[in-house]
Amino acid sequence: MHERRDQEQGDGGSKRGQAAPTADVVDAGTEAEAVVFVCATCGVTLTGPLTRLPAVPEAPYYEWWDADEPGPSPATVPSGHYAIELEPYGAPLVVAEVPGPAMPRRGMIYNDGQPLVSQGPKGNIVINPDDARSLELRHASAACCGATPDGGMNQLCACGTLVATLCSDCCLPYELHLSADHVRAVHT
Ligand SMILES: [Zn+2]
Ligand SMILES: [Zn+2]
Repeated sequence: MHERRDQEQGDGGSKRGQAAPTADVVDAGTEAEAVVFVCATCGVTLTGPLTRLPAVPEAPYYEWWDADEPGPSPATVPSGHYAIELEPYGAPLVVAEVPGPAMPRRGMIYNDGQPLVSQGPKGNIVINPDDARSLELRHASAACCGATPDGGMNQLCACGTLVATLCSDCCLPYELHLSADHVRAVHT
């Protein structure tokens, strides 16, 4: 009953040569309409029903160094919602010309004194990790007690496809990024 097709005409997916008809998983105008995300390869359901937020929220302030036990921070995205990350996220990390956060909500990363910045994909679907289902962690970068996004995707679907990136180490924001190229939104 909504005309969601009108919403996305503007940026019809970046057409800079490389295929990937990026997700019109994103219906800007129909915020209240819940979707579940499924694996694009095997179709298994990867999330509960989620409704879209207009933007990724700020990560909650959290004094992780004062926490009684190491563990994830409070989630960036409230349960039951998702948001689209517009900036590059995850691997590869390349030397930055201008120092700054390596990726959103991540802080600085240095290699041999040189600041790094993400050249990873844009358009990740950011969710609360507690809303994810059927995903298994396969570490892609070193972490202390959780997972970091620095090495790229680290979440395996049951079919063996990497579909998402978990960020859950104690000093990092708690979020799960579904890869727009590896999942599909299904209206509930
Ligand atoms: Zn799958
Ligand atoms: Zn930790």
